[in-house]
Amino acid sequence: MEKTNSPVQELNEELFRSKDLRLFIKRDDMIHPFVSGNKWRKLKYILEDARKQGKTELVTFGGAYSNHLLATACAGAMHGFTTKGIVRGEEEKELNDTLFLCKLFGMGLIYVSREAYREKDILVSAYTAASSYYIPEGGASSLAVKGCAELTDELDENFTHVFVAAGTATTLSGIARGMAAKYPSCKVEGIASLKASDYLEKQVEKFAPGLSNWKIHHGFTQGYAKADPALLNWVAAFTARTGILLDPVYTGPAMHAIYVLAGQDYFVPKSRILMIHTGGLLGMLGYREYFF
Ligand SMILES: *Cc1c(COP(=O)(O)O)cnc(C)c1O
Repeated sequence: MEKTNSPVQELNEELFRSKDLRLFIKRDDMIHPFVSGNKWRKLKYILEDARKQGKTELVTFGGAYSNHLLATACAGAMHGFTTKGIVRGEEEKELNDTLFLCKLFGMGLIYVSREAYREKDILVSAYTAASSYYIPEGGASSLAVKGCAELTDELDENFTHVFVAAGTATTLSGIARGMAAKYPSCKVEGIASLKASDYLEKQVEKFAPGLSNWKIHHGFTQGYAKADPALLNWVAAFTARTGILLDPVYTGPAMHAIYVLAGQDYFVPKSRILMIHTGGLLGMLGYREYFF
């Protein structure tokens, strides 16, 4: 995939001005409308590897609102791969905007029950052939970490904190590695998207071993597909104020957490905070009934 260099913009928000803080956002959501944000970075070396191995089909997994499925469908179509997506759920219930777009990009969708979905090995052997390249759910792999680490090459100044949403913490691991090499004084802080125990910490220890420049905040999210009306209203107000769309699972909770932490004086004056907008712009489309 071609190089990217998404812009860094400053947000001029009263809360941060009043506390002598500066808040910036790296617009990875602007990389591509459907291969958005961290999914573009994660797929970059995965697609290169698939091509090197002479594979012609990409096979992967996702829930019905998976940004990873959509990114794989679109990137596959752009780069000459056929794609197959194994979806958790039933077809009648789940033809939402994300899956409809996957279909338009030519992805073959296979719906499986929640129980069957857990048995990844069985599904992989049932739905892959010699020409298939299997991408783990969410694109969590060391090739994805390598792609995400490149985000830091695009920064031309240091920040005191970089914040990013953490679903599998693959993106966080890459950024932690990139920052440790380039700006070791910067703290890389993940906002957990799932209510999970120490899964995310274990992932970072695996993908970014030996680093201590990162931490993960828990308790800022309700988990997948559980709408928190206060958060949805906060996201809508942020979007109306700034012109930047966030989603209710990843970027919304991550941005909201920065505001909560600033309100609690977590940051010392003069801190320069960078939030990574990891994309996922379709996220709010699943929540229209909360607003209209
Ligand atoms: C997939 C996704 C994430 C989670 O990334 P991980 O590398 O799994 O932590 C964060 N934000 C958005 C918008 C996503 O689509």
